[in-house]
Amino acid sequence: MRRNAGDRILSGSVCVAGEGAYRADKVGAAAFAQSTSAQARRYHYAQSPMTAVINLLIQVLTWTAVGMCGLYFILHLVDPVRVPNDRMVEMMAATITSMVPQGLVLTATISFALGAVHMSLRGAVVQRLNAVEAMAAVDVVCTDKTGTLTTNQLKLAQVRPLAADVGEEEIRRRLRLFASASVDQKNKNIQALRAALDPLVVQAARLHGGSAGGPPAPREEAGGPPAPREVELLDQLAFKSQNRYSAVRVRDGGGERVLVLGACEALRDLLTGGAWERAWRELLPTGLRLLLFAEAAEVKSFADTLAGFTLQPLALVALSDELRPDAGQVLEALTAQGIAFKVISGDNPETVRATVATLDLPLARDPVVSGDELEKATDKDALIRERSVFGRVAPHQKVEIVEALQRQGRFVAMIGDGVNDVLPIKKAHLGIAMGEGSQATKTVAGLVLENNNFALLPETLEEGRTIVRNLRRSGKLFLTKNVYSLLMLVPGALGLFGLPFPYVPQQVTLLNWLVIGIPALVIALSRERSRGATRPDFLREVGGFAVRSGVVFALAGLTVLLLAVHVWGHGEKVQVTQLLSVLILLGIVALLRALVDGEAQPLAGDTRFRLLAAAALPAYLLAMYWDFSARFFQLAPLAWGEWLQVAAVALPACGLSLLSDRWSRQGAGCPSPGISGR
Ligand SMILES: [Mg+2]
Repeated sequence: MRRNAGDRILSGSVCVAGEGAYRADKVGAAAFAQSTSAQARRYHYAQSPMTAVINLLIQVLTWTAVGMCGLYFILHLVDPVRVPNDRMVEMMAATITSMVPQGLVLTATISFALGAVHMSLRGAVVQRLNAVEAMAAVDVVCTDKTGTLTTNQLKLAQVRPLAADVGEEEIRRRLRLFASASVDQKNKNIQALRAALDPLVVQAARLHGGSAGGPPAPREEAGGPPAPREVELLDQLAFKSQNRYSAVRVRDGGGERVLVLGACEALRDLLTGGAWERAWRELLPTGLRLLLFAEAAEVKSFADTLAGFTLQPLALVALSDELRPDAGQVLEALTAQGIAFKVISGDNPETVRATVATLDLPLARDPVVSGDELEKATDKDALIRERSVFGRVAPHQKVEIVEALQRQGRFVAMIGDGVNDVLPIKKAHLGIAMGEGSQATKTVAGLVLENNNFALLPETLEEGRTIVRNLRRSGKLFLTKNVYSLLMLVPGALGLFGLPFPYVPQQVTLLNWLVIGIPALVIALSRERSRGATRPDFLREVGGFAVRSGVVFALAGLTVLLLAVHVWGHGEKVQVTQLLSVLILLGIVALLRALVDGEAQPLAGDTRFRLLAAAALPAYLLAMYWDFSARFFQLAPLAWGEWLQVAAVALPACGLSLLSDRWSRQGAGCPSPGISGR
């Protein structure tokens, strides 16, 4: 960006051409680079939606467990005969093991870690454990332009012919001659021309005058195949920042040509005719980088300058910053999935507009809001909500935009590459850095696209959705247990209706293994992708399932206990064994229900979970009828009649829980599983 006297530059700026002096008015901690890195170093914990929900559940359930333990202690103080010391400790242990969802935390951690490893292997380095899952919740992506959406490498966008007597084909041929012969092979303009025009082989170079600095021009390789096309370079004038043009003298056919490429303003005084200026003004609003390609009227030596030459304008060469090859496609794919984009760039608004205009997205037609307009806006939040393309924004305005979107309830991801993106990346719910980006950006980001590969974003989204789906399923199993445990522990603990305390710690462990913890863990390991978008409101869906199932389970559990105590007259060991049997049978059904609940289409890989559910019953029977394990788990081997009593309670409860699923689906207006193609 060109700077004028009196302009402000930030510490860390680099002078790429020309010279100048500056006065430092802020040093040390007050300097921009220092203050940015100090802010970036400040610790900032960003919760993903899932971690927020799990943390909330842990708090609620832990405090409930603590409250219940307090109740047991009071009961022990009031009636030490009915609740002796060891009984109280046993009740506390059973309550804590059944109420605290430690399994859910473990399952979530394993899911996040697996997602992180999987995406890291694909080239998206996950630096925050929950970053992949956070991607599934993102509904707006803010992205920087230069170096993020674009490669920061120029591309030939247009050659606008200016000479009435030279055809476009011929102009392109001469431009190719120029680009092939130029010594400035590292110059981004020349690189763009060479990439577009298939350069010729430079046959001979007698370089002198102003060739310093550039690498040698490519020559025909010794021993290689004979090159069909060649250009003979006779003389050249390399690009210098004070000239802002470069020129070559080449042999072309029988004669010689002097070809020149440079900034229009720099060549203005040497040009003949004024037609070029009209075309130049016309192309200016496109935001493209414009260069003038011209030919000298006479062939003579350069003597380090073009002074004294008369130039005939041949064409205006328009260069664009090239969009990353997959960026457009990925942005379009993500937009189709309901994710909004905001392009926020420090670049000239016209350039930003020109870049986004190539995208097949609604924002391509959006007017660009400049940093100044944003600063002066009376209702900044509305402007940020309604517009999608921002140009010439200062680093602090990038942060403002991210914060405004967050205030509007959006879940924001920020993608960037430069130091000026560090703070918005850090502020966003999910920060994504480009692999080519600055080290500071990569340090604060949750996700780094190692090969600048945009295509990893939809993959990360899918991976995130897989994690969320798995945790939904696992969460249903874990939380159902918490609900029925709470409902049954209270009457058991208070001794209401003459009921025993329902849980023996070892039996809680067995229940966990067979129908909750191990199945949930296996579900969390599933990598199968599900189609369809993430359903909003994890807590409502999982909580709804857990509450309606938990209530049915608790009713069934209390019924079997009441009947066992008051009607069938069983001993305490048979009572709790019958209760555990009811809970295991209902748990198997709950596992099968959790696999289809809320799913639009059944997954092929679910068969193994169904087999796992089916295997729980023989495993339970083995635990009950093998002497050693029956003693360990304090189970009474049930007789046929006692099993019939269990079935008499469990079967209606199963039917009731299946009915509750149907009512819930109808209530939410969801299709039945397996029917819709959402
Ligand atoms: Mg950038």
